[in-house]
Amino acid sequence: MFMRTLFILSIVAWAAVCVDAEPQAINATNGGTVMKHELPSLPYAYNALEPYISEDIMRLHHDKHQAAYVAGLNKAEYELQKARDEGDYAAISYWERQLAFNGSGDLLHTLFFRDMASSAGGEPSGDLADQIKKDFGSFDAFKKQFSAAAAGVEGSGWVALVWQPEFDKLYITQILNHQNGALSGSQPIMVLDVWEHAYYLQYQNRRAEWIESWWNVVNWPSVAKNLSSARSYVPERVSASM
Ligand code: MN
Repeated sequence: MFMRTLFILSIVAWAAVCVDAEPQAINATNGGTVMKHELPSLPYAYNALEPYISEDIMRLHHDKHQAAYVAGLNKAEYELQKARDEGDYAAISYWERQLAFNGSGDLLHTLFFRDMASSAGGEPSGDLADQIKKDFGSFDAFKKQFSAAAAGVEGSGWVALVWQPEFDKLYITQILNHQNGALSGSQPIMVLDVWEHAYYLQYQNRRAEWIESWWNVVNWPSVAKNLSSARSYVPERVSASM
């Protein structure tokens, strides 16, 4: 009995060392580095967005779902470096797809959580409001289109307001899973998660109700800041025509 317990304990200790050591264990032989990503903390309390988003959803969504994407991203970084060092090209193609899925999952969740706040909602002002009016006609027209795009996502995905610097314009895009359908070279400045894990505990199958509720927690100053950061990149052909 004692030996059996010792054996189990040593397996557990060995597994803990492996899990802990894995991201740092690789020695890049070709000059690459393995980046270690961390789960960002929420910029508010778990219950801050109630009644629109329940504390239970926020805990699960951030601590379990986003955390899983961060873990998947770290795993992909590690496996990619290993596959490159070993010249295993079939594995590289698989892990690059994992990198796209988990890396995009992490990035979109970070933006989604950062762009919400309590006592928020309403309408944007300043440059963001002007650009929305220019590209969509009015705030109401934009809101209708964004909500319809969110309701129309088939299966799991996102709707995003993106800035495309080459076209000097805002677009609404649907993103399937976390990475498919994005407009190349565009910068997401506001995203809405319509995966079922984002709302099912509270809204069950009523996705339209989830979308309507979410507008009450949109942090417009944060979205405006994202647009002004995205504008700091001015492509050559746009600056040449100014
Ligand atoms: Mn999510």
